[in-house]
Parts: sequence; structure tokens; C-alpha cells
Amino acid sequence: MADFQTVEVTTDLLICGGGMAACGAAIEAAYWAKKNNIKVTLVDKAAMDRSGAVAMGLSAINQYVGIRDGENTCEDYVKYVRQDLMGITREDLVYSIARHVDSTVHLYEKWGLPIWKDEKGNYVHEGRWQLMINGESYKVVVAEAAKNALGMDNIYERVFIVEPLLDGDRIAGAVGFSVRENKFYVFKAKAVLVAMGGAVHVFRPRSVGEGLGRAWYPPWNSGSSAYFTLKAGAEMTCQEVRFIPVRFKDGYGPVGAWFLLFKARATNAFGGDYMVERKDELNKWAPYGLGKPVPANLRNWLGMLDIFEGKGPIYMRTEEAIQKIASSAGDEKAAKKKLKELESEAWEDFLDMTISQAILWAATNVQPEEKASEIAAAEPYFIGSHSGASGAWVSGPEDLAPKEYFWGYTNMATVKGMFCAGDASGASSHKFSSGSHAEGRIAAKAAVKFCVENKDQPKVDGAKVEELKKKILNPLELFEANKKLSSDPNINPNFIKPKMFMFRLQKIMDEYSAGVVAQFSTNKYLLERALELLGMLREDSEKLAAEDLHELMRCWENVQRMWQAEAHVRSIHFREETRWPGYYFRADYPKMDDKNWKVFVNCKWDPKTGKWEMYKRPIISIVA
Ligand SMILES: Cc1cc2nc3c(=O)[nH]c(=O)nc-3n(C[C@H](O)[C@H](O)[C@H](O)COP(=O)(O)OP(=O)(O)OC[C@H]3O[C@@H](n4cnc5c(N)ncnc54)[C@H](O)[C@@H]3O)c2cc1C
Repeated sequence: MADFQTVEVTTDLLICGGGMAACGAAIEAAYWAKKNNIKVTLVDKAAMDRSGAVAMGLSAINQYVGIRDGENTCEDYVKYVRQDLMGITREDLVYSIARHVDSTVHLYEKWGLPIWKDEKGNYVHEGRWQLMINGESYKVVVAEAAKNALGMDNIYERVFIVEPLLDGDRIAGAVGFSVRENKFYVFKAKAVLVAMGGAVHVFRPRSVGEGLGRAWYPPWNSGSSAYFTLKAGAEMTCQEVRFIPVRFKDGYGPVGAWFLLFKARATNAFGGDYMVERKDELNKWAPYGLGKPVPANLRNWLGMLDIFEGKGPIYMRTEEAIQKIASSAGDEKAAKKKLKELESEAWEDFLDMTISQAILWAATNVQPEEKASEIAAAEPYFIGSHSGASGAWVSGPEDLAPKEYFWGYTNMATVKGMFCAGDASGASSHKFSSGSHAEGRIAAKAAVKFCVENKDQPKVDGAKVEELKKKILNPLELFEANKKLSSDPNINPNFIKPKMFMFRLQKIMDEYSAGVVAQFSTNKYLLERALELLGMLREDSEKLAAEDLHELMRCWENVQRMWQAEAHVRSIHFREETRWPGYYFRADYPKMDDKNWKVFVNCKWDPKTGKWEMYKRPIISIVA
């Protein structure tokens, strides 16, 4: 590609991503870098002010432990996460984030994020761990602090990172391209911190056709973290632990405020409350099914059983909840005032983070104080920072991690010099926006230490870079060379466009790997067929074609999704039990099997042989 300029950037620490974890990494790295004369560079595929999962804003900070007020302890948080993940969690990592997360929240407040306060000046809690915020500008506030700390000269926006660069067993940097200009970027670094979020649109979404693009998880995170770490040869964990959120149907509006703040019930179309009527089902999933709170996947599961029995739709009883709170306010006048207040809080909850849900309510004449709204289980997503757990297998901190979980630097993956945070690091679920930021800070501090202690710049093979450049830009060449063979740019015997490719991937995942259409159920044979079809899709990925830079990004997003998909299918296939009904059901192993499967399922793709390996890793508890 003669008209593509190659831009080389040499740095000490490269932060890939500009979301919550990367912004946390930026402020911490900037602090330690100044003391140690270290150069830090950050690359985001979008504009940091509105990039990543928090782009639209959020209505609550989901992780706040409240240590200074004696509200909870780190041990409490570990127990909560362990319970929600049906026992599968890296307690050292969860603890490590829990002990730092409050300070991240206090920084947010200092930077100007409005956190709700009560009349005594205390934070208003949505639930035990959640704080209410006026969060429509949450990401702007957090990004501004990161940008100020690093300086815009060290930040590359609208540059899409594709592949890692390696020097033997050590990370050496990353390559990518600008999505606006004909520039190919080569970042050479001593350490790389991966924070490029999770993945959406791996599975066929419920919203197709005219609704395509609507999903719970914002459509711009495409599995770049998983792809990057897999291609570097890192050991991965919990790739089977997808997340299926139950949200307001079609608009994917949040339900947290309704369940936790307004104490609303969800009922089936016949008025039955599945959490009450199906309580006995929870015995089958003991001890987690009998613990409190009931894990998210089991709550999903009980609702799904109603749907499978033909009792849908499921409704969030907004009208009942609002009327109940309003009527407890006192006389008629006070009740009316309270009703107005609740009504505006309900709308604001959507306007803070899921504007499309407010638009859908307005478009369909919903008045939440009068009419219940449908909720539904969405398609599966990969978001290790929320209620999923997929990500790279990283070292724990020296003072907390058992020896099996410790290899030198906190949050370093099994590839030397490669650090991971947020959705990129696995088995430490429930860190959410605040915990991801805190984990970014933890990982960045360790990464700077790595740069100080490993001063030599790793070698980057020039021939390898040229090979990668050719491969990454190939879809543009392929389109130019073949476009005249057909009158429709989307249909051509010699290439496949990224949208078509994505539809094929989604069909495989939906039908064989327990998507919506398969009612979230699968078995060994379906999964083996999925692997066969994914193998053929991988062959065809070499025929991806792009009309312009934007489509070039779409091509690589979908290749990354395909790798996330394969890691997922292999992991579900390997784990011969059902541990998270409500996320997926192994019909051939319909029960939980603690004896054989209370373990982590890890996998690795070997860059030298191109082969996958699967293995079990032990669960070591540090909190009684
Ligand atoms: C719908 C939804 C609702 C949520 N609600 C809440 C809530 O109420 N409260 C709460 O605390 N948390 C909530 N969360 C969780 C929170 O948003 C995540 O935990 C957090 O954003 C994870 O941080 P991250 O840095 O790993 O990923 P993100 O914040 O998503 O950042 C990923 C970054 O990587 C960049 N990127 C991606 N690919 C590339 C690439 N190839 N090259 C370069 N850059 C790339 C993106 O542009 C982005 O900057 C919610 C998440 C979702 C999806």
C-alpha cells in the first residue's frame, strides 16, 4: 500500500484502550512515570470523551465498598462476588480491587462527578454496593482527568489496534491503523497494558433488521482485548462465562434502580412472581442457589423457565412499585408530590445511560406510573468487568495471591510485559466502571515498575511488521482488485464484506452455542459443529474486503469477534457441567458438578504451533 504512511512511535508503556480501565491506568502511570522518567502513550480507537461502555453515561457507580464509613469490608465484597459467580472467582484479584476502589470514587467526586447525597451529606445508595450519580457526563469527567495527566501529545485517538508485536516470550508493542487517515501505526514498547473492553455482536442480537445496532452492550467493543491477548499467546480464563443481562425489552434500559431503589417486582403475564413460585428450583443449585443475593444467572434462569413454559412476556411492575412508594408518603398531596418525583427519577435513570430506552418509552406511550413494561433476557455478551468473567489470566498482588496465582508483577498476563485491566483481565467479575478504573491504576503502577526493572527495549522484527501491514491492509486491496466483477459492492464472488461475515458468525453462535434462538442451551455435538463452522469462517476471513478505512475497521472487529467466539465455544465444550443456568445450559450435563468442575477453565492459543490448549486451574480461597 504505497499511499499508506507508516508512523513509528517508541515508548516505554503503551496503554491500549481509552475506557474506564485505561483512564485509571493513565492517571496512575503519569504519576509514577514522572518520578521514573518513563514515557507513557495511550491509543484509543475512538475519542476518549465518549469511548467504551460508559460512552452514553451511567446512572450508578456499581462498586463502592464504603470502607472509610465502616459500611463493608473487602472480605464482604469477595464473598458477594464468589456467591454471584457460583464459586468461580479469583479472590486475590477481587480483594485487590475492592481495597482500592473507594479511592477511585473519591477521585471522581474531586473531578466534579455529581454523586447523589442525602440530607446528612452521605452518598445515596441504590443497593449495598451501588451509588446513584448524575452520570450523563461520567465518561467526559473521567477522560478529562486522564488526558490532563498524560497530555494530548501522548494520546492517539481514532487509531484501531489490531495485533501485538512480540520479541520471543516478551511483548514488544502493537500495530494498528488510523480510522480517519491513511496511516499505519507501529508502537514499540517495553510494556503494554491491554484495556480494550469486552465484546458485543458475537451472538445474533435480538434487535435485527431495522433495529440492528441496538444491543445492551454498546456496539463498538468487538473483542479486541481477547484477540490481542490470545494472539500474544497469553493464557486466558473463564472464556465460558458470558453475561446475559435481563433488561427492559428492545431498548435495553437498566433495571437496577427498579429492583434495588424502587423495590419493583417482575411478574409473568399471568401475574406470577417467578422468584416466589419457582423458589424450589434454587435447591438444585445449592449452595449458591440458597445464598443471598441469589446469583444473577439463577434469577435469569427462573424467569426463563416461565418463558419456556409459555408464560411470557415478563413484566417489570413499574406501576405497582411507584404507586406503593407514593402512597406511603402520607396524605394525598404528599403522595402526588412523591409520584412526580419518582416519575422524573425513572426517566432520568434512562436518560443518564440508555437514552434509546427513554425514546422507546416515549414512542410507545409508556407512563411507568400507569403501565408495566416488558423485560427480557438479552443475547450473550463478553464483559469480564460486569457479571461475566472472561479475560486473561493475570498475576495477583504479592501480599494476597497464593503462589499458584503470582508471577512477579500484579496484573501481568502470562506473557512478559503484557498487563491487563477491566474487561481484559479475567476471573475478577463485578468491578464495573469504578473497579475497572481502580484495576487500571493497579496494573499501571506494576507496569511502570516493570519498565523500570526491564530497561532494554525489546527488538521488533522489521520484516514481521511489513508482513502485518500487508495482512492488515489486505481487505482494501482485495476490494479494489475485485470490485468491478459485480454491480453490487456487497456481493462479489471474490470477497466477503464485514457485515455479511458478522451475520455468519452470529448465526453460528446463536444456533450452536446457546444463543437466543437455541433458548440458551447447547451440547457437545452442537459445540463441535460450531467449531467446524468457525474453522471454515476463519478460512474465509482472508477474503474480507473493505471499501474504505471505516470498513477496514469493521473487518478487523469481526476477525476479533471470531477469535472471542472460538475461545468461548472451546471453553463451554471443555467444561462438562452446567454451572451458570440462565447464562447457558449444557443439556448433556444438566447439573452442577463441584467435585470435578469447581475449577477455572483456562485456554491458550500457541502462536508457534497455532494450536489451542485447554486446562483446569485450581480455585484457591483466601476469604473464609
Ligand atoms: C450497558 C452497560 C451498563 C453498565 N452499567 C454500569 C453501571 O450502571 N455502573 C457501573 O459502575 N458500571 C456499569 N457498566 C460496566 C462498565 O461500563 C464497565 O465495567 C467498564 O466500562 C469496563 O471498563 P474497560 O476499560 O474494561 O472497558 P471500556 O470502558 O468499555 O473501554 C474500552 C476502551 O477500549 C477502546 N477500544 C476497543 N477496541 C479497541 C481497539 N481495537 N483499539 C484501540 N482501542 C480500542 C474503546 O474505544 C474504549 O476506549 C455497564 C456496562 C454496560 C455495557
